[in-house]
Amino acid sequence: MLILIMVASLGVLVGAVGVAAFRISEREHAHSSALPATADGLSADLSAVLHAIPGITIILDEDDEVVRADAHAHAKGIIHGREITHPELISLARRARRAGSLISRDIELPRSGMDDEAMLDFQVHAASLPAGRVLIIAEDRTQHRRDAAARREFTANVSHELKTPVGAISLLAETIAANPHDHEAIARFATRLTREARRLGNLVQDIIDLSRLQSPEAPYEPHITDCRAVITAAIQRQETRAEQHDITLNSPDTTRIPPLQVWGNEDLLITAVHNLLDNAVRYSHAGGVVSVTCERDEEWVRIHVADTGIGIPADAQERVFERFYRVDPARSRATGGTGLGLSIVKHIVADHGGTVSVHSEEGAGSIFTMTLPVADREGQELS
Ligand code: ATP
Ligand code: MG
Repeated sequence: MLILIMVASLGVLVGAVGVAAFRISEREHAHSSALPATADGLSADLSAVLHAIPGITIILDEDDEVVRADAHAHAKGIIHGREITHPELISLARRARRAGSLISRDIELPRSGMDDEAMLDFQVHAASLPAGRVLIIAEDRTQHRRDAAARREFTANVSHELKTPVGAISLLAETIAANPHDHEAIARFATRLTREARRLGNLVQDIIDLSRLQSPEAPYEPHITDCRAVITAAIQRQETRAEQHDITLNSPDTTRIPPLQVWGNEDLLITAVHNLLDNAVRYSHAGGVVSVTCERDEEWVRIHVADTGIGIPADAQERVFERFYRVDPARSRATGGTGLGLSIVKHIVADHGGTVSVHSEEGAGSIFTMTLPVADREGQELS
């Protein structure tokens, strides 16, 4: 929402600056002899305004030839030599010239040299200037469009994922209510009810974690944090679950390894290691082994979470960090997975200036590695 407001304000700002440039130019026309001119024949005032405008600025003369354009106009292929390459922009400029006013339009332009798929979205303002000149201001909104599409997709996915456990819970509750005397059935349905409720709780927690991490405000105040404590706490949280699934959980002897200090937030880092451990246990068979190891060099702290589980096919290894991506949705669903855990890990690690990677072999197991920048003894983060 905040981004939307910012984008809207930017749009208004660009529009306002366009109008300001138009007015300044009108003034310039009236007092042209009093103002110093620049090499392209524009007043110093107008040149300064054009420099201050965020976005692409182009000035055309009365014959639609480019008088002045910034580097982005060339780089994005909007102008070539002294000509505008896109007929839509020329016709917009002509309309503004004829109307003697400011006209704004959203225009999709093909990226020069790219296939038809690669379109750039521009919000374009064309302002008529004196002497038949036209000022064009174009704001590239392609990234905004992609962000909006990602947000829409996320909302659609969340709604879909929420509907499944909510539907199951209400169905199970109705069944229990309809069979008040069948104690055996009640016990069976109540177990499933608990499982669905837990899944719903996990999903809601994941969504809260993710939206907090994606919020534009700084999500936390970083402190010097020792990853040995992070690993110990994350392992403690998983011990019971590993035992329940008959999985051996090997942890490093943190009393015998040197400090692993990074700048960060302990709770978030525990969540990240916990999510990796949660997967290692969830995607392993009974009798499997999950091991956490860690190391550091001058620059980086590395935490490895290895398992002897089902592994991840090569073509899915990049995708597992995407939101809601699951290699086998049926299996994840059965075990309560929603496909957000690794996306949360990726965000947390990125917020700490690090990376997360995976090495995996189908049927043999996986190793996930979190790499974080070391905080040196003076408390300065190494770059
Ligand atoms: P949750 O949001 O509850 O963590 P999830 O475990 O399905 O759900 P992620 O943790 O993001 O979601 O993992 C995405 C997918 O990557 C999983 O569904 C699974 O297919 C695969 N995956 C992740 N870790 C492992 C692992 N250690 N071994 C095998 N597959 C894994
Ligand atoms: Mg997971």
